[in-house]
Amino acid sequence: MVYRLVRDFNLNFNILKASVSPGEEGLLVMELSGEQKDYDSGIRYLEETGVRIQSLSQDVVRDESRCTHCGACVNICPALAFTVEPDTKRVLFDQNRCVVCGLCVKACPPRAMRLYF
Ligand code: SF4
Ligand code: SF4
Repeated sequence: MVYRLVRDFNLNFNILKASVSPGEEGLLVMELSGEQKDYDSGIRYLEETGVRIQSLSQDVVRDESRCTHCGACVNICPALAFTVEPDTKRVLFDQNRCVVCGLCVKACPPRAMRLYF
């Protein structure tokens, strides 16, 4: 399918996360870029083949008052949205890098990361 998005719809892709569950349901998080009409055609093609599409237009935000800077989110983020400040060891969150995969929301012990629709 990804090959066809490139070949038939002139789209470029960047796979950020790919996984297959034990029930063999697949999850793919990817960025697509290209002409709007090609994007629309590519999305239509995916939907016609039975792929469920979810646009990552939601927001993930951090409640700064809850974050304990434990670092649990740093290595699980596929978009490298978290960095550790060398001097203070504080965990910085760059929301502009976030692709809203939701992994940090589940992984954050004090529930500082929240998903907003
Ligand atoms: S996992 Fe949660 S508490 Fe820990 S650094 Fe990340 S946002 Fe902060
Ligand atoms: S939802 Fe969390 S883990 Fe996923 S890309 Fe955004 S910051 Fe990273």
